[in-house]
Amino acid sequence: MAEGRIIKVSGPLVVAEGMSQAKMYEVVRVSDKRLIGEIIELRGDKASIQVYEETTGLGPGEPVYLTGAPLSVELGPGLIEAIYDGIQRPLDVLVAKVGDRITRGVEAFSLDREKKWSFVPVVERGALVQEGDIIGTVQETVVVNHKIMIPPGINGKLVEIKAGDFTVTDVVAKVETATGVKEITMMQKWPVRKGRPYKEKLSPTQLMSTGQRVIDTFFPVSKGGTACIPGPFGSGKTVVQHQLAKWADADIIVYVGCGERGNEMTDVLMEFPELHDPRTGETLMKRTVLVANTSDMPVAAREASIYTGITIAEYFRDMGYSVAIMADSSSRWAEALREISGRLEEMPGEEGYPAYLGTRLADFYERAGRVIALGSDNREGALTAVGAVSPPGGDLSEPVTQATLRIVKVFWGLDASLAYRRHFPAINWLTSYSLYTERLSEYFAEAVTPEFNKLRIECMRFLQEEAELEEIVRLVGVDALSPKDQLTMETARSIREDYLHQNAFHEVDTYTSLQKQYLMMKAIIKFDEVARLQMEQGISIKKILADPLREQIARIKYLAETDLAKIEALLKEIAARVPDGVEV
Ligand code: ADP
Repeated sequence: MAEGRIIKVSGPLVVAEGMSQAKMYEVVRVSDKRLIGEIIELRGDKASIQVYEETTGLGPGEPVYLTGAPLSVELGPGLIEAIYDGIQRPLDVLVAKVGDRITRGVEAFSLDREKKWSFVPVVERGALVQEGDIIGTVQETVVVNHKIMIPPGINGKLVEIKAGDFTVTDVVAKVETATGVKEITMMQKWPVRKGRPYKEKLSPTQLMSTGQRVIDTFFPVSKGGTACIPGPFGSGKTVVQHQLAKWADADIIVYVGCGERGNEMTDVLMEFPELHDPRTGETLMKRTVLVANTSDMPVAAREASIYTGITIAEYFRDMGYSVAIMADSSSRWAEALREISGRLEEMPGEEGYPAYLGTRLADFYERAGRVIALGSDNREGALTAVGAVSPPGGDLSEPVTQATLRIVKVFWGLDASLAYRRHFPAINWLTSYSLYTERLSEYFAEAVTPEFNKLRIECMRFLQEEAELEEIVRLVGVDALSPKDQLTMETARSIREDYLHQNAFHEVDTYTSLQKQYLMMKAIIKFDEVARLQMEQGISIKKILADPLREQIARIKYLAETDLAKIEALLKEIAARVPDGVEV
C-alpha cells in the first residue's frame, strides 16, 4: 500500500505528507508499530490523522500506511456480552493477550474467528432475496436470537444455503446477483460514520416504557426517541441508567461509556455483569454490548466510540429489535472533540469547543428512530438514544448541554438538591420535559385508558400549584392558607412522596406497570376530589387529613402487580367517603 511520512506529532494528532492518494476518514497504520489512525483532514498531500493509540515516541520521518478502508465495525454473532474499546477492539481479548496495560499496535479481531455458531436457515435455496432479508438465525445467548441478514446492496437468487456450525467468516450462503455470485458470511462490516440504511422512518408514536413512574407518566420517551440526562455527582444518574437498562422496553442495550474518571468506567464494567435481567433472571449482559473508554485511553478512541456504539445498535435495530443506546457521558466525548479540534488549530467556538459541536451531536442523535428495516418482510425496529451529560458544576448553560438540548426531545433534569433531600429518582418535575407527551397520549389512551392523560395533567397541575403556594407558605406559614389550599399542598405532597418517589432497590417498587401507574394516580386524585366534597359539607381539613385511607394510599406502591384488585377496592372505599346526599 502507498505510504506517507510523518512530519509532525501533536498528542493524538499526527500530520503526514505524501498522502495524495488518501481519502477522508480512511484508516491508516502509523509507523512500523502499526498504530491505528484515521484521516480527519486532508490538505493537498498533507493529512491530519487522529491516532487511536498512545503516540509517545513517534517522530517525523516515520512511515504511514494507507489501508484503503474507512473506520468500520464488524457485525455478527459474538457482539452480545462483548466489551469493546472505542474502535471495537475486544478489551478482554487484549487484556488476555498483553495484560492490563494494553500495549500499542496489538491486533485482535472484533468478532472471534474461531468460535462456531449454530446457523439455522429460514429460507430455502432458490428463493429470491433482497438486501436486509433474514436468511437464518443464530441463538447467540439465551435471550438474543441473532438474525443473519443479507447485507445492504445485495439482491438476487439464493443459490446455496447451509445449516450447521460455522465461524463468522465461513460462507453460509451464496447469492447470484446481476454482477456475479456473492458469498454471504454471518459477519458484515459497516463504516461507523455512516448510518445503516433502512426503508422508512416512522413517527415516534409508541412508548418505550421504563416502569419508572416519573419517566413514563410525566416525561415519557418514545421508541426511537432521544433523551438527555444531566448527572451532577451523586444525583442518581447511575441508578437511573441501570433502571433503564433493566426495565426499559428494549431487547438490546448498547452502553457506551466515554471516559469518566478511570475507575468510574471500571465500575460500570464490573456492575453491568452483576445486574440481573428481571425478564429472564440471567445477567443483563446476555442482551448487552459494552463500549468502554476510560479517561486513560487515548482521546481519539473516545471520539470514535459513540459511532462504534450506534452502528452496533443500528445493526440490531435492523433485525427488528427495539434497541436502547446509552452514551455516558457525551460531555467527555465533546471534550475529546475539543482537544482534537484544538490540535488541528481550528477556530474555536464557545468555550473552546469546535463550531461543529452541535452538528456532530445531531449526527449521533439523528441515527435514533423507529424504522421499517430493509428486507421484504417490512419488519419494524427502533433505536432509542439516551445521552448523559456531565455539565461542570451542574451549569446547564454550558455549550454541550445546550447543544444537546436543542436536539433531544426529552430532558430528565436530575437535581442535586432533590437527591440531597433523598427524593429519588431525583428528576425535577418542574424543569424536566418531554416533547413526546402529546403524541403519546393516544398510545396511553389505547394501552391503558384515556383517563391516564387526564390524571397526568391533574397531577402536574397540583405540583405546579404547590410550587406557587410554597412561596406564600415561606412568607406566612401553612396556617395562613385557606383549607382548600392546604388540601392542595397535601395532595401535591402525596403525589411527590407516594407517586414520584420510587425506590430502585425495593423488590416491588422498582418497577410499576402503566396500569398500576394509572390506578395509583387515580387513588390520589380521587381522594382529593372526595376531600373537597367533604369540606363543602363542613368536615374539617384536620379530620379529612387524619383519614386512615391516606396511609393505604401511601402504601399502594408496595402492592405487587398481581394485587391490582386491592387498589380497585381501595378506590371504592375512597368513593364511599362522599357525604350522604351529595351528587357526584
Ligand atoms: P451518581 O451516579 O449520579 O453519582 P448514583 O446513581 O450512584 O449517583 O446514586 C447515588 C445514591 O443515591 C445511590 O447509591 C442510592 O443510594 C441513591 N439513589 C439514587 N437513585 C435512587 C433510587 N431510584 N432509589 C433509591 N435510591 C437511589
